[in-house]
Amino acid sequence: MANSWRRERWDSLRLLTPNWQSRLPGLRYEGPDPDGYMTVGEVIEFIEHFAKVSGAPVRTGVNVTSVRQADDGYHVATSDGEIASRTVVIASGACNQPSVPALSGAVPASVEQLTTFGYRHPGQLPDGGVLVVGASATGVQLAAELRRSGRPVTLSVGEHVRLPRTYRGRDVLWWMDASGVWDQRYDEVEDLTRARRLPSPQLVGTPERMTLDLNALASMGVELVGRWAAVRDGRALFSGGLRNVFSLADLKMERLLGTFDEWAGAEGHDGEVGPPERFTATRVPESARLHLDLGSGEIAAIVWATGFRPDYRWLDVPVVDAKGQLNHEGGVVGSPGLYALGLPVLRRRKSTFICGIEDDAREVVDHLARYLAARR
Ligand SMILES: Cc1cc2nc3c(=O)[nH]c(=O)nc-3n(C[C@H](O)[C@H](O)[C@H](O)COP(=O)(O)OP(=O)(O)OC[C@H]3O[C@@H](n4cnc5c(N)ncnc54)[C@H](O)[C@@H]3O)c2cc1C
Repeated sequence: MANSWRRERWDSLRLLTPNWQSRLPGLRYEGPDPDGYMTVGEVIEFIEHFAKVSGAPVRTGVNVTSVRQADDGYHVATSDGEIASRTVVIASGACNQPSVPALSGAVPASVEQLTTFGYRHPGQLPDGGVLVVGASATGVQLAAELRRSGRPVTLSVGEHVRLPRTYRGRDVLWWMDASGVWDQRYDEVEDLTRARRLPSPQLVGTPERMTLDLNALASMGVELVGRWAAVRDGRALFSGGLRNVFSLADLKMERLLGTFDEWAGAEGHDGEVGPPERFTATRVPESARLHLDLGSGEIAAIVWATGFRPDYRWLDVPVVDAKGQLNHEGGVVGSPGLYALGLPVLRRRKSTFICGIEDDAREVVDHLARYLAARR
């Protein structure tokens, strides 16, 4: 139970969603710190508690090795026997494996490489500089932690989503929730494919509610370089054009904050929150390096924070596309009686967050119940 939180997270991780937002059907956070952010241990307890109060028949430590179509539904093979089922809900998660670009294969053997599944704490890395690749939630958090441990840190930055931790005195995720941005439905999103691929926001949950954007990292002494494009003769080559990448992220953040302001004005919330704020543009380094000699000893380790992907190798039903993504329409998979939950923008923008599951599950289970009723 809570397997991914037990085995696939680093030691210092806290949720980036505030405690009050950790809600599951019939279970709300009721502790003393609604605005705080849970540690991994607290998330595990929360999920264990949910298993108890929901009364669901949970079987832990069981691996599904195959799901295939059978005459009357699906045949499920597990490490603990076989199951025949008329319907199956795939809730195996969107982040089963780290997604690492192929150029990692050209990195000299003298440089240690880790993914976020293997990373636990800075002490585990060899002494020396660290190159963190990817500047979304995971990358910015690990770059900050590694820099604080005293190491020289270089952060390779591609497309990213910049957000302040708090806006007009409230958590930025309060705004996402209250303004309805997170409730936007998948069939109303303009470019759904793109929305589903959007990187996680640059956010960290700390007791101080700090904003961890690229300006904060640069002030800590983290060196920013562009997106890692290639390895040639043992040198990492980074894209130029950081200015464009930064201004796009700044622009999108401004637009989102503008949406919040409009909502607050229209719905009469201006009196309950602080005045509108605008943030300093992301500072472009004077001369960002375009290459780095990986054989020089400057970089002792690389941490890949380049995202995650699902793993459907156990699914023997032809519903996975060439890119390894499940074909589905709002969680209704293209094989009768097969459903999915917990994937990016499955039915709403909040679908992959803990607080997103309840609304999605209600609708998907509703479809499932109608499917079963129609067959009776
Ligand atoms: C680093 C990181 C930080 C995150 N931070 C937040 C946050 O702050 N707030 C938030 O709301 N969300 C956060 N998320 C998203 C978070 O993962 C989801 O909100 C939540 O964990 C999704 O739950 P899930 O059950 O859908 O998927 P998962 O938690 O991925 O669980 C899926 C489960 O299915 C199991 N499984 C997979 N394949 C099989 C198989 N073949 N047989 C048996 N079991 C299988 C996995 O082992 C796993 O236990 C974060 C994700 C990551 C990766």
